[in-house]
Amino acid sequence: MWQVVGHEEVVGVLANSLRRGKMAHAYLFLGPPHVGKMTLALELAKALNCVDDERPCVRCSQCQRIAEGKHADVRVIGLDGRAEIGIDHIREMQHAAGLRPFEGRHRVFIVDGAEHLSHEAANCLLKTLEEPPAQVQLVLLAVNERLLLPTVLSRCQKLTLRPLTESVVERALIERWYVAPERARILARLSSGCLGWAVAAVSDEHILSQRSERLAALIHLARASMDERFAYAAHLANQFSRDREAVREVLSLWVGWWRDLLLIKGGCGHFTANVDQETMLHREAEPYSLRQIKEFIKSLEQAMEQLEQNANPRLVLEVLMLSMPRGSSPESG
Ligand SMILES: [Zn+2]
Repeated sequence: MWQVVGHEEVVGVLANSLRRGKMAHAYLFLGPPHVGKMTLALELAKALNCVDDERPCVRCSQCQRIAEGKHADVRVIGLDGRAEIGIDHIREMQHAAGLRPFEGRHRVFIVDGAEHLSHEAANCLLKTLEEPPAQVQLVLLAVNERLLLPTVLSRCQKLTLRPLTESVVERALIERWYVAPERARILARLSSGCLGWAVAAVSDEHILSQRSERLAALIHLARASMDERFAYAAHLANQFSRDREAVREVLSLWVGWWRDLLLIKGGCGHFTANVDQETMLHREAEPYSLRQIKEFIKSLEQAMEQLEQNANPRLVLEVLMLSMPRGSSPESG
């Protein structure tokens, strides 16, 4: 039994290929952050190494060691706080890929954040993608396929993980994580279909309080002076050099917020993601036209992409501040 919530179609494709012994040499799992890409990749690693008849089981030592992150043949290559995944990591992977599996049947390499491979690293990875050693399975995880080299993309079987429905997240939180129904309902809505986020928020109160702080800053900026906006851009740019993930989260939250404003403006307020902010959303949507909101969402998405392409963060964020439409001042609102 694959320990994956939802994503039945993708699991079906993988299980079927496994049964027929026709695995692709490399898979690319695409989807938003926390949607379940890593969980699925680890389940695939279990399925490839499991010694039970019904693969993957949860009982055998192979499955258990993979679940505990102790299996010698299953490796995750990720950013670990760096700006990019460098060529050294890929060379090291290639060396390991040339060796026989140590304790299982297959060596599995998971590249987490494949869009952050340096150009050199991606080109180096191509060698393995072109001539993969036997018993080696590559799995690339990425949010944005447009940032991958076309040559890398074309050598992987692409599987897209879409956000889960709210009710699937809600049920999983109640049944598997024993969350109280009311809390599960709110977290499911706030998760935008990304179960991993909701599960993290269950055990870490800080995630929700941090979200509130970030939303408050966003609301303030909508009516702040340009000096204040630029100061915030400088602060974010500074943060970007230390913690890219945090800045990505801030900007994703902004996209979600502005999408909610768009929904309210378009008369679809019952579909908003920020369910706990309904009154505020209605108030904030007031001064803008649909077009202003749409254009700013586009600017946000552009800024996020430019940051991933290593444009100057300060410049990108200042341009973003300039393109943010002006909300009503507190006195007039
Ligand atoms: Zn097993």
